[in-house]
Amino acid sequence: MADAGKKTLFEKIIDKELPAQFVYEDELCVVIKDINPAAPVHLLVIPRKRIEMLSDSKPEDQALLGHLMLVAGKVARDAGYGDAFRLVVNNGAAASQSVFHIHLHVIAGRPLSWPPG
Ligand code: AMP
Repeated sequence: MADAGKKTLFEKIIDKELPAQFVYEDELCVVIKDINPAAPVHLLVIPRKRIEMLSDSKPEDQALLGHLMLVAGKVARDAGYGDAFRLVVNNGAAASQSVFHIHLHVIAGRPLSWPPG
C-alpha cells in the first residue's frame, strides 16, 4: 500500500507544500484541524515520522506513540475540552482509514455517544 518514494498527503502538509490549519507543532508531531470536521473540535495529531498505520508501528515507536497521546490530551485541554473528548485511530481501509500516515483524531464539542458507527 505504501509508496516509499511518494509523499503522503500529511507529509506534504507537514512540509508546508499543502495548506492546513496548524494548532500545534513540535519536533515529533504536528496537529492540524480536520478539513471535514465531525464535531466542533476535530483535530488530527500526526507524527512527522511516516508510519502507515498503527498496526505497522514497531517497538521503537513506543515513545512516539505515547507522545502523540500526550499531545492529544494537551490540544483537547487547550481547546477547552480536557475532560470530554474522544481519540480515534482508524486502522486500515475496512476501519475507514483514508490517509495512510498514522494519525489520532481528537474529537470534542458535542455529545459523543457509544458505540461509534
Ligand atoms: P482517516 O479516514 O482516519 O484516515 O482520517 C483522515 C482524515 O483526514 C479525515 O477525517 C479527513 O477529513 C482528513 N483530511 C483529508 N484531507 C485533509 C486536509 N487536506 N487537511 C486536513 N484534514 C484532511
